Amino acid sequence: MSVIPLSDSSVQPLLQVRDLKMHFPVKEGIFMRTGKFNKAVDGVSFDIMPGETLGLVGESGCGKSTLGRCIARLYQPTAGHIHFKGTDLATLGRKAMMPFRRDIQMIFQDPMESLNSRHTVGEILEEPFIVHNIGDKVWRRQRVSELLELVGLPARSATRYPFEFSGGQRQRIGIARAIALNPKLIICDEPVSALDVSIQSQILNLLIDLQKEFNLSYLFIAHDLAVVKHISDRIAIMYLGRIVESGEGESIYRTARHPYTQSLISAIPVPDPHHTSQRQILVGDVPSPINPPSGCAFHTRCPKVMDTCKTTAPALTQDHQPVSCHLYPV
Ligand code: SF4
Repeated sequence: MSVIPLSDSSVQPLLQVRDLKMHFPVKEGIFMRTGKFNKAVDGVSFDIMPGETLGLVGESGCGKSTLGRCIARLYQPTAGHIHFKGTDLATLGRKAMMPFRRDIQMIFQDPMESLNSRHTVGEILEEPFIVHNIGDKVWRRQRVSELLELVGLPARSATRYPFEFSGGQRQRIGIARAIALNPKLIICDEPVSALDVSIQSQILNLLIDLQKEFNLSYLFIAHDLAVVKHISDRIAIMYLGRIVESGEGESIYRTARHPYTQSLISAIPVPDPHHTSQRQILVGDVPSPINPPSGCAFHTRCPKVMDTCKTTAPALTQDHQPVSCHLYPV
């Protein structure tokens, strides 16, 4: 098991994930028996430092959102450990998990789905305080106004409903709700994927500003390496339930090693009319995690596949930029 190397080993990680697995049972046949498992997350390890952003990138269906939901304990992981503030969250029941819910929050891709459309923005932002029994009505209303201003919305927005706002404004409301309880870690699950490019950068800048102000840590999930480029300190590339390469952000962009990472980087648009595109287009979709390919799970799509890749799974290297590929012997 290899863990993404940290930039500063003298500081204690905020979050340590070790060999985390989330295998969903697949019911088959007329008796709905469990014969197979969807191995959405299949042995993932990484650390996140206080105030740091780890970008987690991969195509749809690679397991990155499932991983985020396991850490937020919206799912009970099948195996592995989630060490946070000296406690293994993977072992906690619903009640024991309650105090940690303040510290770990989520921002979702579609705020319209995650914001209750029948409640005003004020009611939505007040709810976390009511659930955790914090403050009285006057204090909560004051805090809602502060939160709205922190995310760049006027305090009067509290009386309006989510459908009255644009997509970018709704995501600001989602961010306000995520920071309401002064969390330590926010799992950002594709928070800008549904937004126009111009709005994306505004939301990313807001997240960066809030991170500086409150020393937040982010697990920033995206399917597009271009999006995570400016926000991530370190980046992990995920394919079919596993991390196949990881390292410092700049290092991943400059010297990507895994053929999958290289293809993702080649897909980033270059704003230069004289630039000749050398895009490496991947053939086919991510294979099913119910029946993953033998050997290297990427071998069915890899432009550099060798015979050994079809039978033997590569191990992660133990260096500054761990990669799981036979081109880089352990
Ligand atoms: Fe490609 Fe083989 Fe490396 Fe897998 S192990 S990424 S198939 S070269």
